Amino acid sequence: MYDAIIVGARVAGSATALLIARRSYRVLLVDRASFPSDTLSTHLIQLPGGAALKRWGLLDKVIATDPGKAAQVRFDMEELAVVGQYPFLDGVNAVYSPRRYVLDTILLAEAAEAGVEVRQEFTVQELLWENGRVVGIRGRTKTGESVIECARIVIGADGRYSLIARTVAAPTYHEHPSLTCGYYSYWSDVPTQGGEIYLRGKRFISLWPTNDHLTLIYTAWPAAEFSVFRADIERNFLETLDLVPALAARVRQGQRAERFRGSAEMANFYRKPFGPGWALVGDAGYQKDPITAMGISDAFRDAELLAAALDDGFAGRRPLAAALAHYEQRRNAASRPFYEFTLETAQMKPLTVGQRELLQALPRHPTAASQFFGVLTGVVQPATFFRLQNLFQILGVQGLTKMVLNTVFQPRQKGERSGILLPSGRKGATHHK
Ligand SMILES: Cc1cc2nc3c(=O)[nH]c(=O)nc-3n(C[C@H](O)[C@H](O)[C@H](O)COP(=O)(O)OP(=O)(O)OC[C@H]3O[C@@H](n4cnc5c(N)ncnc54)[C@H](O)[C@@H]3O)c2cc1C
Repeated sequence: MYDAIIVGARVAGSATALLIARRSYRVLLVDRASFPSDTLSTHLIQLPGGAALKRWGLLDKVIATDPGKAAQVRFDMEELAVVGQYPFLDGVNAVYSPRRYVLDTILLAEAAEAGVEVRQEFTVQELLWENGRVVGIRGRTKTGESVIECARIVIGADGRYSLIARTVAAPTYHEHPSLTCGYYSYWSDVPTQGGEIYLRGKRFISLWPTNDHLTLIYTAWPAAEFSVFRADIERNFLETLDLVPALAARVRQGQRAERFRGSAEMANFYRKPFGPGWALVGDAGYQKDPITAMGISDAFRDAELLAAALDDGFAGRRPLAAALAHYEQRRNAASRPFYEFTLETAQMKPLTVGQRELLQALPRHPTAASQFFGVLTGVVQPATFFRLQNLFQILGVQGLTKMVLNTVFQPRQKGERSGILLPSGRKGATHHK
């Protein structure tokens, strides 16, 4: 009998296992994959994720793999460019982009080191129930043996298509259909000065340095155009880069080192992350468009919140159900402003006059530019950056008046979101918690 069985051993599962085991609980961590292995994901770790790795004593191990470092970032929308530095968060001021086969393997090894029992190539097939409560799993080993294991709680860290979430019928809320689709690959000999983000019409491009001196390049289109993109991926990818001619020329001087990978399955939703004998963490419980690259950081945050809640419940400081309800509340409170920001960003709307003013002003205000990058990396709340007092300091009276008038008088379609660079204030959700 384990204290916890965790299904899925990537960023959410291994981190949760590690943190629970470090509190001296008995943990079984299983994954149908073997490690090291890759998964469909780019791999920017936003500042809160880097700070989490640092708290856990793992950031130096990640940095030692030479994962590419972006302390500087260029944000270039409709040819208005802001270049600046990320702010500091707990001593971390750079976005690192370790390949997932690097990051996930470091986390898994650390979990094993902390005493977690790890079983790779172990596929969970069903949950075991007793009196309406999940009490364990039935799974298959790589040799085909059927195995039963029991625990006080079974945690689904098994990704967006989570078997655990489906089996317990975890309710979803704040749902929004896919907004973007995207493809990415890796290039050698494409030098970058940190991270680069470009928006040209309904096209998004980003570049980040990663392991093996490669440059990760990601492009996103609206989800509705996926079949067009997929029909000729290489051509469409390169034509997207051509929207930024200097960038396209730089990329054409390098060599593509790997195949293209991509997806249009970018649905956005929260799931209720707990019930009798079960909990969810990572994408299994909260999934959003990757355009803001927050999934890994969010998984780390939720691993910490869930581990703390389980410790509270197991140690009897409060009933387990109350502790897990607190986990859900804290997850939602921390993530919701950035969820709304992600949904807005993923619509790739054109700049309004006021937004233009802001982007033109930011290069003259390095501290404000750094705060703006703080929003993009999940450190500064969008509502804090976009509050009137702050905008006044950046834009002055004239600019702010222009922005406000433009915002007030620009009609929007019903249900339309305000687009990047503007405070949402508004909830686009179908159901509110
Ligand atoms: C195109 C794309 C780009 C992205 N880019 C970024 C980025 O740059 N930065 C960022 O922070 N986030 C990014 N994300 C999001 C990020 O990939 C996810 O948020 C993150 O992978 C979630 O981690 P997880 O551990 O919850 O789930 P996953 O990484 O999906 O891992 C789930 C694990 O569960 C295992 N599993 C599933 N079912 C079973 C079963 N029945 N039995 C045993 N094992 C099982 C799987 O084998 C898998 O290893 C991107 C996503 C996409 C799609």
